[in-house]
Amino acid sequence: MTESLTDTVALVTGASSGIGAATAQTLAAGGATVALLARRTERLRALAEEIEAAGGAALVLEADITDPEQAKAAIERVVADLGRLDTVVNNAGVSFVGPIEDAPPQEWDQMIAVNVEGVLNVTRAALPHLVNAAQTAPRRVADLITISSTAGRVARPGQAVYALTKSAVNAFSEAMRQELQPKRVRVGVVAPGTVATELATHMRDGVREAVEQQLAGIELLRPQDIADAVAYMVTRKRHVAVNEILVRAAEQT
Ligand code: NDP
Repeated sequence: MTESLTDTVALVTGASSGIGAATAQTLAAGGATVALLARRTERLRALAEEIEAAGGAALVLEADITDPEQAKAAIERVVADLGRLDTVVNNAGVSFVGPIEDAPPQEWDQMIAVNVEGVLNVTRAALPHLVNAAQTAPRRVADLITISSTAGRVARPGQAVYALTKSAVNAFSEAMRQELQPKRVRVGVVAPGTVATELATHMRDGVREAVEQQLAGIELLRPQDIADAVAYMVTRKRHVAVNEILVRAAEQT
């Protein structure tokens, strides 16, 4: 049995592409009003139009989540304009892989800034609103989902700092899960394997080609496969908490 998201509000970070865009569309189709957050607002506006054309409702939020003030302002805007916040999907992230000895320091810094500090900034600003939503109709439960990675579970060569960031959000989520459980804020993690998105296109020359070669011939996951996992988590009845879903491409080791 699933619960409808009608009359709830969901925020998806990194909604301008890939997993975030698919997740926003799926939650909107499930009845949620969706707040779409990223830096590329043209893409967010195009997505909002698609959602609205399909009968849904969306709010576009331009923010860089590495800046705590921007993250806070975006969440205050959601609550001011839409009245509440029931679901947060901490999805925005970056991935730079490659041999540790050659890694440009700015790649490490950016992964930590977006994948860790960004998640903390959004979560800190959203928590009071999630706690409020969990006490009120229609659902009397709220959801805080973070998109981690298989790299948060198994660290592999070439992924040291990316794996560090995803292990960090797993630990953060598990502690919060226990702390927020009495308040009926369900904290969950979705860990995807390799998904066909723009993520790898941001990697530096040489590394990008190596990654593409490694994945050649494998049928990768699609963003919708991960959106489906998020939707499953947030549409459980209030007595069910799905804490973690790991989704690999069937051909991925
Ligand atoms: P994409 O590159 O397609 O999307 C990343 C999103 O993050 C974009 O919408 C981007 O928006 C947003 N983003 C990046 N930096 C910031 C920032 N500073 N502030 C706000 N938004 C930001 O990648 P995916 O869809 O693949 O990635 C989504 C999540 O899934 C990430 O956390 C990633 O680590 C995780 N993941 C992905 C896997 C994959 O194989 N693709 C595997 C496992 C996990 P904009 O640039 O407009 O700001």
